[in-house]
Amino acid sequence: MNFISTRGNVGKIGFIDTVLMGLANDGGLLIPEKIPQISEEKLQSMSKLSYQDLAFEIISSYVDGEIPDQELKDLIEKSYGTFRHSEITPVKKIRDNMYVLELFHGPTFAFKDIALQFLGNLYSYVSKKTGETIHILGATSGDTGASAIEGVRGKEGIRICILHPFGKVSQVQELQMTTVHDENVLNLAIKGTFDDGQRMIKELFVDVDYKNKYHLRAINSINFVRILAQTVYYFYAYFQVAKETGKKQVNFSVPTGNFGDIFAGYLAKKMGLPVGKLIVATNENNILEGFVQKGVYRPGEFRSTYSPSMDIQVASNFERYLYYLLDENPAAVSAKMDQFKSEGKIAVNEEQLCQVQEDFAAHGVAGDECLETISKYYDETGYLLDPHTACGVAAYETSNDPKEVCVTLATAHPAKFNESIERCGIEQTFPQQIKELFEKQKYMEVVEADKASIVDNLEKLFSYSVK
Ligand SMILES: *Cc1c(COP(=O)(O)O)cnc(C)c1O
Repeated sequence: MNFISTRGNVGKIGFIDTVLMGLANDGGLLIPEKIPQISEEKLQSMSKLSYQDLAFEIISSYVDGEIPDQELKDLIEKSYGTFRHSEITPVKKIRDNMYVLELFHGPTFAFKDIALQFLGNLYSYVSKKTGETIHILGATSGDTGASAIEGVRGKEGIRICILHPFGKVSQVQELQMTTVHDENVLNLAIKGTFDDGQRMIKELFVDVDYKNKYHLRAINSINFVRILAQTVYYFYAYFQVAKETGKKQVNFSVPTGNFGDIFAGYLAKKMGLPVGKLIVATNENNILEGFVQKGVYRPGEFRSTYSPSMDIQVASNFERYLYYLLDENPAAVSAKMDQFKSEGKIAVNEEQLCQVQEDFAAHGVAGDECLETISKYYDETGYLLDPHTACGVAAYETSNDPKEVCVTLATAHPAKFNESIERCGIEQTFPQQIKELFEKQKYMEVVEADKASIVDNLEKLFSYSVK
């Protein structure tokens, strides 16, 4: 198994080098040279596996022997041993033809734990094997940060710095990130947006000398492992729902920000899973809706919404989809990304737009629509949706053919976003782990959103081990 860059200027590399490189050294994103194909027969045999065994089947086809099978199995067991539900990602029926896939039973109550528990353990494994210290640098809209910190806190050989937009994350998200008092963790609250954080991090990662000097590693979904680990639950949910409904094809509605989670669904489909429509659910930061409807991808004005983890304008993983849309032609991807840099937009032609609309439907959910969806489902079904999941459900309502079955990804627990739940006049009880956070002290530095102040702080955190 080889991995290549969407922009074509990185030599073929293996799985572990792909994990370590994160962002491709040519500024593109890493993808498998060939996507492993799963036959119908194989799907049949996979349909009865536990989550962990399924994860092993899927992940091992990309690892391709670089990690011995037993060690990979141990990494997977350890990663999902921290989850509170025995099924890891259980599926719940809400109505006829309507299911939610609960992805929030990990340590920080959001779906990011599924990939980041695994990635944290993988970094630890690599660090032990190679003796190399690993310095993780990431930007977060709230959930990735908490989850990545939880994945590596206290782990030897790893230090982590997370940038979050100051005052733009929920109270519980901020507490989860900043009440960790381990020496290897640094929280920088930037006076800016998630997009500012992500842009600065990309600038640092693109500087290959700097990246190598500090062994900088990525935990954002620019890292292919994030995507890979997230394909597993599409398979898991498909098997449960196909069994229960007798349907051969399942649609998914996915709350989307950086296009990572939904790209995992696209990859699962490319591997052979009978996924029907993938519904892109966004909030008022609805660039992707515009793209699916008009074929023009153009970030605009940043909006703060009830679903802050999706307050993203520039969707990093969009480039991975673009690669497949442009017939796997790296020169064409590079040209489009150059156009994006100079003109601030990407446009595709009629024929490509038809393909986009075959792959995806999309709906940008307005603020009041999000809250109304939470209230409506709470009243009618007793199920409490978090505001991100509510965007997914609202998009399911506008975009799913009622004859077809749809699974909405429940990306977070409602307790993480009580500010939005309260606006619906709903009182919820917090899980114990979240209640405890309010008693703890916060550790973070508030900094300007400029590269120089980030670099300054990184030097302090990382210099101890760099010669
Ligand atoms: C990160 C996040 C999303 C968006 O996922 P992407 O992979 O960035 O598209 C949606 N909901 C929640 C709760 C999240 O934390």
